Amino acid sequence: MRGQLILFSLLLLGAVHAQEPATTQQAEDAVRRVVRHSGLVPNFIVRPNADVRTAIAFVKDRQRVIEFNPAFIALVMDSTRSDWGAVSILAHEIAHHLLGHTIDPAAVRPGDELACDRYSGFVLFGMGATLTESLAAMSLTGDPHGTRRHPPKHARLEAIRQGWEEARRVREGLPPEPVHDPDGLRYVLSFVDDANTYYADSLGRVLWFDASAQAIEFGEMRDTGGGTFAVRWMDEDYLVDARMAIWRRSTHGMPLQVGKLEKFAR
Ligand SMILES: [Zn+2]
Repeated sequence: MRGQLILFSLLLLGAVHAQEPATTQQAEDAVRRVVRHSGLVPNFIVRPNADVRTAIAFVKDRQRVIEFNPAFIALVMDSTRSDWGAVSILAHEIAHHLLGHTIDPAAVRPGDELACDRYSGFVLFGMGATLTESLAAMSLTGDPHGTRRHPPKHARLEAIRQGWEEARRVREGLPPEPVHDPDGLRYVLSFVDDANTYYADSLGRVLWFDASAQAIEFGEMRDTGGGTFAVRWMDEDYLVDARMAIWRRSTHGMPLQVGKLEKFAR
C-alpha cells in the first residue's frame, strides 16, 4: 500500500513538473478571484514552493505571502475535476491573513483553522460553487484525526458547510441558523497559547463557536469520576484533575499543565 502510494506520488510529481507553470497560473488566478469577491485590494504575493506540504500564509518584509505546493494543488484539481478545490484551499490561506493569524505564526489555535474553513465556505458560495464543490478539497485531503494545529476533518467540513450555508442565508435574506442551545453547555475549556474558548456540553462534546455562534464539534470529554475527566481533543488525550487543571503527557512522560476547566456560567 505504502509502496503504491510512493510510486503514485512519484508519477504524480513527474506529471506535475511539466504543468507547474500552468498550476502556478491557476493558483494566482484563484487568489485574484477570491480577493475580488472579498472586496480587498489584491496585495498578496502568490508563489509555488515545493517544500511546503500543502499551502501556507505568512508575512515577510511586511508583504502578505501565500505559498503553495504545485503538486498538491494539481492533485486536488485533478481529483476533484474542477478548480474549486484549489480555490477553497487558497481562500482558507487568504483568511489567515485577513483574520490576523499570520501576525503570531508560532501560536497554535485550532479555532483559527475552523474560522478560515468557514470563510472559505462563505466566499465560495459567493463565487458560485455548490456545497459539494466547496467541500471537495477538504473531503479529499482532510485528516480524520486532526493534528495539533488542525482540527479533525469532520469539524472542518462542518465549518465549511456553515460558512457556505450562512452565505446562502444572507443571499436569500434569511436570519442566521439558530444558535446552539446554551442550556446544554456545562464547562469552559481554555488552553495556554490559544486565544479561543472551547465548551463541553451535557452530551460530552467539546465545541468551538464561530462568529455567528454556530457550534462546531471537535472533541469529547468524559466524566471519569471524583471530579476528574478524560478529554480527547484534536489527536491527543488530556486529563482533568479534581482541581480542574488540564494536563497533557509530554513525549517524555512528564505531565504538562496545558489549560484549565471552569464551570460554565451564563
Ligand atoms: Zn490553515
